[in-house]
Amino acid sequence: MKHNFGAGPCILPKDVFAEASQAVLDFNGTGLSILEISHRSKEFEAVIAEAESLVRELLEVPAGYSILFLQGGASQQFAMVPFNLLPTYGRAAYLDTGTWSSKALKEAKNFGAIDVVASSSDRNYSYIPKSYAVPADAAYLHYTSNNTIFGTEIFDLPQADVPLVSDMSSDIFSRVVNVADHGLIYAGAQKNMGPAGVTLVVVKDELLGKTGRTIPSIFDYQQHAKADSMYNTPPVFSIYVSVLNLRWLKAKGGVSVMEQENIIKARQLYEEIDRNPFFRGTAEVEDRSRMNVTFVMTNPALEEEFLALAKERGMVGLKGHRSVGGFRASIYNALGISSINALTDLMREFEEAHN
Ligand SMILES: *Cc1c(COP(=O)(O)O)cnc(C)c1O
Repeated sequence: MKHNFGAGPCILPKDVFAEASQAVLDFNGTGLSILEISHRSKEFEAVIAEAESLVRELLEVPAGYSILFLQGGASQQFAMVPFNLLPTYGRAAYLDTGTWSSKALKEAKNFGAIDVVASSSDRNYSYIPKSYAVPADAAYLHYTSNNTIFGTEIFDLPQADVPLVSDMSSDIFSRVVNVADHGLIYAGAQKNMGPAGVTLVVVKDELLGKTGRTIPSIFDYQQHAKADSMYNTPPVFSIYVSVLNLRWLKAKGGVSVMEQENIIKARQLYEEIDRNPFFRGTAEVEDRSRMNVTFVMTNPALEEEFLALAKERGMVGLKGHRSVGGFRASIYNALGISSINALTDLMREFEEAHN
C-alpha cells in the first residue's frame, strides 16, 4: 500500500477509484462506458445535477449563486475572474501570499489596474500578511485561501468592504467556509474534489454582466450559468468522479466532520515536526496549512536519506517544492490518519537511529 502525500493531482478514496473504474466498463448498467455516453443523455444530466446539488449542500451555498463546472484549471480562472468582474478602467485588489496569488494578479493586470494590498514575498511567503487597506473602489479583493507550495493557510477572512474572490483549489471541502461572505470561489478539482480536468466555480449572480466589455462566450460565466455548465462538452469523467468523491464526503458526515479530522491529522504531524530536533517547519506557526505541511531538516545533508527511507515504506510525493526545499506532506481529505502515523513513526525512528 502506498501513502500518497502528493500535492496534486492527489489521492482520492480507494472506493472512489473502484467505482470509477467500474463505470469505465459499464456505467450504471447502461452497457456503455462513462467515457462514451453523451453529455446530453439523461444519465449524464442526472450526474451533473447531482454534482451541483452535492456542492450546494456540502458548502451550504445560498440562493443567488451559480455553481459551474468548467475546464482550464484554476489557472484559467486567473484570467476569467478579472475578465468577468473587473470593469474596463476599473481596479481590483490582490493579496499576494505565494506563487498562485502572484500568477493570478499577473493575469489580472491584463484587464485593469491592480492594487497588491500586501505581500509576504519578503520572507519567501512563509506567513500571511494581516493588516492592510483595501481601496474602497476595488471591484473585488482576491486571495488564495491555502498556499499549496508554501504551506500557509488563511483562517481569518480578509476584512474588506468589497466582494471577496478566493482561489480555494487546495483547501475546498477541507473546512467550513461561509460562501455568503464571498462573491466568487474557484477551485481546480485535483486537490480535494476529484481528478484533474474540471474546475469548480461558485459565483454570486448579481456581480456578473457589469464590466462593460465583450467577453467571448467560452470565458463568460453568464453563458456557462445559462447553459447549466453544458455550454460545450463538459469534462464528463472528471465530473462523475467528483460526484463519487463528494458522495463519499457526504457519507462521512460532510465538511465539518472532515475539518475535525483534518485538524487532528495536521496537529499530529506538526507536533512531531516541533518535537523532533531533526526537523523544522518552514511556515509561521499561526499560519500553518492543514493541507500542505512544509518542513525541512535541521541538517539538510540528511534529507536525501530520509526521503529514501520514506520511499522504502511506500511514502510518495514527499519531496518539497523547489522554492521551499525539504519536504511537503500534502494531507488532503482522502489521506487517512494511518499515513500520518507512518510518517511520524519514521521521523521518530530516524531520530533514534541518528542520536
Ligand atoms: C494547483 C493550484 C493551482 C493551479 O491549478 P491548475 O488547475 O493546474 O491550473 C492554482 N491555485 C492553487 C491554490 C493551487 O493549489
